[in-house]
Amino acid sequence: MIRKLLCPDLLDTGPVNDRIMAVRDGVVNFYILKAPAGLVCIDTGWRPACVSRGFEALGLRTQDVVAVMLTHLHWDHARCLPLFPAARVFVGACDEPTLIARGLTPGQTVEPVGSDRTVTVGGLAVRAINTPGHTPGSMAYIAEDKSLFTGDALSLKRGRVFPFAPWFATDRKALDRSIRKLAAMRGVECLFTAHSGMGQGGESAFAHWHATTDVLQEEVRP
Ligand SMILES: [Zn+2]
Repeated sequence: MIRKLLCPDLLDTGPVNDRIMAVRDGVVNFYILKAPAGLVCIDTGWRPACVSRGFEALGLRTQDVVAVMLTHLHWDHARCLPLFPAARVFVGACDEPTLIARGLTPGQTVEPVGSDRTVTVGGLAVRAINTPGHTPGSMAYIAEDKSLFTGDALSLKRGRVFPFAPWFATDRKALDRSIRKLAAMRGVECLFTAHSGMGQGGESAFAHWHATTDVLQEEVRP
């Protein structure tokens, strides 16, 4: 009930399309991508029993996850990392991998990713985009140049983009610049957030955010 109030647009665990699945773990969604050779997770959720149940419901096995791409290292995004023993783990180059080092299993490796680096995992090309603001090392990822996973950079309300929890951002100006960067990307068909479900990409999703920031800039102008 509380999670419905806090995060009414979260996706239930299930397939989004034939390549992407959502898992709901309390107040957060994370995503599983079917790659040609294995599964790729964008974040991990935070409660092992719930995440294991999610995989089971989807008919998937956690040991088939070949890569985990972390948007950032907050507990609700990264805590279930140990469930994926065979995974290459990608974290933002400006993040602090020692924060997760203790939870790694012997088969896992941590690889920092910088902005605009494309990595091929399980035969799937995923581009990393640094989006500092929520945390200094926050990352977004885009798969097949059309599915954009935003982590906690932004939230969606009725299909429109807003900064995610701006009062909670470590750097609010950097967060705005990061959203501007995502807004400028062309060809994005779907946005996948961690706490407010998914929506269509494109200019209409960002139009309200542009309008809001323009108003704010007007207000601070002398
Ligand atoms: Zn966070």
